[in-house]
Amino acid sequence: MAAPRVPRIVIENCAVATVDAHDTEYASGHVVIAGHRIESVGAGPAPAGLENVVRRVDGTGHLLTPGLVNTHHHFYQWITRGLATDHNLFDWLVALYPVWARIDEPMLRAAARGSLAMMARGGVTTAMDHHYVYPRGAGDLTGAIVESATETGVRFTLARGSMDRGQTDGGLPPDFAVESLDGALAATEEAVDRYHDSSFDAMTQIAVAPCSPFSVSTELLKLGAELARRKGVRLHTHGSETVEEERFCEERFGMGPTDYFESTGWLGDDVWMAHCVHMNDADIAAFARTGTGVAHCPSSNARLAAGIARVPDMLAAGIPVGLGVDGTASNESGELHTELRNALLVNRLGAHREAALTARQALRLGTHGGARVLGRADQIGSIEAGKLADLVLWKMDTLAHSSIADPVSALVLGAAAPVTLSLVNGRTVVEDNHLTTVDEDAVARSARSEARRLARIAGHD
Ligand SMILES: [Zn+2]
Repeated sequence: MAAPRVPRIVIENCAVATVDAHDTEYASGHVVIAGHRIESVGAGPAPAGLENVVRRVDGTGHLLTPGLVNTHHHFYQWITRGLATDHNLFDWLVALYPVWARIDEPMLRAAARGSLAMMARGGVTTAMDHHYVYPRGAGDLTGAIVESATETGVRFTLARGSMDRGQTDGGLPPDFAVESLDGALAATEEAVDRYHDSSFDAMTQIAVAPCSPFSVSTELLKLGAELARRKGVRLHTHGSETVEEERFCEERFGMGPTDYFESTGWLGDDVWMAHCVHMNDADIAAFARTGTGVAHCPSSNARLAAGIARVPDMLAAGIPVGLGVDGTASNESGELHTELRNALLVNRLGAHREAALTARQALRLGTHGGARVLGRADQIGSIEAGKLADLVLWKMDTLAHSSIADPVSALVLGAAAPVTLSLVNGRTVVEDNHLTTVDEDAVARSARSEARRLARIAGHD
């Protein structure tokens, strides 16, 4: 019996930034995709005589990069954007928890679809959602999120979050917004059993993700870490985001956030944390020693006046760093490609000034860095033969970019570039700047009506 003929897609005549270990780039190059994997990448046009080519894309005037990888988000916030816009983190949380606690399954589904559509349209091929709001009787929220990601067609990590430290236990969230310790652990384990796929080309993975030191008990952190390691899945949480969190940990536990995480089993090469803004040299050394990863969220940190993470020091120490949009209640744009630019700009305003990130380092954070943070660097995050075909072809020949000398700088420093083609697992998700998997206008309408319903129920209408 003859071997099955694997369909091939050829993209050629474009600039290619592979983001491989040597930052190999081609001023004019090609990529050949066979099925759902990259078969070859190189300079010049694709080799002649390839069989079974089902599509040939002329990439003239374009830049081809690995798909963007988002490492921190809260999809539900899509329908609570533009609220508490002048608050710092703790005040913003106190203002928004009562609204978020009224979220039900149809609202979450509409919000997840909106968040996913926005990211996919902007070149994200691997999305993640850290969801930790599970009001009693709200329906199958985990199912609604995973189904929305599957519909949109992106690769996806759901960090199944939880909160069990309500106000009566000294936490920040109201009591009616939290789960019990046992309930949170059981539901997290169920999500892993139901959805986690550990295979090379997995489209859905689950991580264990208690929300933050000020909204979960020490027991939930410890038992959550044990659960994740028993199941062989990753761990995610918020860490060292603000001075208020630092103070909370010092007062309550007698140590800073990083020492507290270490004491609960939360440093390791299977852990990544969002923000990590307030880290001293010892904290950075502890992350480097243990291989703990960081989701850098520059726009959200600026919006909530949290501070500037020490990304150049983290990279120098060898810490895996990816980018995150964070929830869209603290970053209304919800786009990851703007984070490439903001990561570069924000870090150049920090202590390192001009020795901070380069444009190529920013692109690496948003691709290969994110893949490392999610534990998937062997599979995605760079354009290399054998890896999964998650690729974005950015249009660089219009008014916004055509006169910028270098395509990588154009992508990072210029206006948000239109996406001519985005492939996930070899499948088209964006074509000519439009989603092919979902109806963007229908997603927008439903997000608006669910946002209004939530506003009415929560009383901020
Ligand atoms: Zn967050």
